[in-house]
Amino acid sequence: MKITYNPETLCVQAGWQPKNGEPRVVPIYQSTTFKYDDSDEMAKLFDLEKSGYFYTRLQNPTNDVVASKIADLEGGVGAMLTSSGQAANFFATFNICECGSHIVSTSAIYGGTFNLFGVTMKKMGIDVTFVNQDASDEELEKAFRPNTRCVFGETISNPGCEVLDIERFARLAHRHGVPLIIDNTFATPVGCRPIEWGADIVTHSTTKYMDGHAGTVGGVIVDSGNFDWDAHADLFPGLTTPDDSYHGLIYTQRFGRAAYITKATTQLMRDLGSIQAPQNAYYINLGLETLHLRMKRHCENAQAVAEWLQRNDKVAWVNYSGLPDSPYHALCQKYLPNGSCGVIAFGLKGTREDAIRFMDRLKLICIVTHVADARSCVLHPASHTHRQLSDEQLRQAGIAPDLIRLSVGIENVNDIIADIEQALA
Ligand code: PLP
Repeated sequence: MKITYNPETLCVQAGWQPKNGEPRVVPIYQSTTFKYDDSDEMAKLFDLEKSGYFYTRLQNPTNDVVASKIADLEGGVGAMLTSSGQAANFFATFNICECGSHIVSTSAIYGGTFNLFGVTMKKMGIDVTFVNQDASDEELEKAFRPNTRCVFGETISNPGCEVLDIERFARLAHRHGVPLIIDNTFATPVGCRPIEWGADIVTHSTTKYMDGHAGTVGGVIVDSGNFDWDAHADLFPGLTTPDDSYHGLIYTQRFGRAAYITKATTQLMRDLGSIQAPQNAYYINLGLETLHLRMKRHCENAQAVAEWLQRNDKVAWVNYSGLPDSPYHALCQKYLPNGSCGVIAFGLKGTREDAIRFMDRLKLICIVTHVADARSCVLHPASHTHRQLSDEQLRQAGIAPDLIRLSVGIENVNDIIADIEQALA
């Protein structure tokens, strides 16, 4: 019988249960390859008739331990680590899309994902329709086409901090026979488990809270195992018809509920690379061990900072779903009962230049192209991460030109507020 532990225990212990005499901490299997006694056994691995390791581009034991911990935290059947969050979102969608496919994505998503869908995947013949996540069901229905293959959104959007109604989006996606893919980077599974609300696939940039120390770039895809690919076989031929590169194997027939994640590992990772380095997986595991402690502190600090900002007369607006008057407060209470996250979006009264001057005067809080780690940091998306977007695209993505993205760390909250206060003064 599998014992089910609480998330805090999973953060610390899931994935690695050493046998007698084995290392207590997961070792870094710093090896590209694995040795076998006879060639027939190796051949079986290549044909997916046997499971095992043969080359780290496809699978590595350290990575698998960490992937398995994240799968347990999210409540999925399996997971795969990737070299970055970008790779995770590309693989998550490309695993079920091909030239001629179409994606419905919320527009309030990370700028890198917006580019990936709107520019790079478009060049591959995969089209996207960006939708306003707060639009009515009737409006959203119009975005779907016969060639739609998935719906994509972020639990808490980067950088606008909008909260997605996951259950509603899952219902819409499923009505059209396609899965819902949720990027859960900002919420983390400590804050929200999208699979429990109907999401089929969950992705993360592990670069953010999971690592938590700004030390490693990485990503992960978690498969819920819940989507019935065979029930919509004509939409997902990559999973439901023979794969010539594995002698005609059919993923859903051979791997059942793990078909999607097995295809991502054995086909996409084999052909496209982008595996996470085992050493990075080791670091992410260290981060995961304290994720539950850090998220609690991030949320408490951000709540206090958001309330302080809201009271300050130099601040024009604050978007933080933990604030009772936030338009996303009800969704926050439903999906993020333990608190939102550490990221706040706000604007100052004055010009765009005032926002930049404010940021330049911060001392403790640094300007960095990063978010969601232990150190408080700040960024002006219109000048930095999203500078390639037009004003219209910025508006579509819910990013006001004056939006300042403040990532509240786990320092003493009084020091964080004092730094903001002196910069405003
Ligand atoms: N998804 C979200 C929500 C992000 O914030 C980011 C990066 O900021 C990414 C994906 C991309 O992740 P990475 O930078 O690890 O490639």
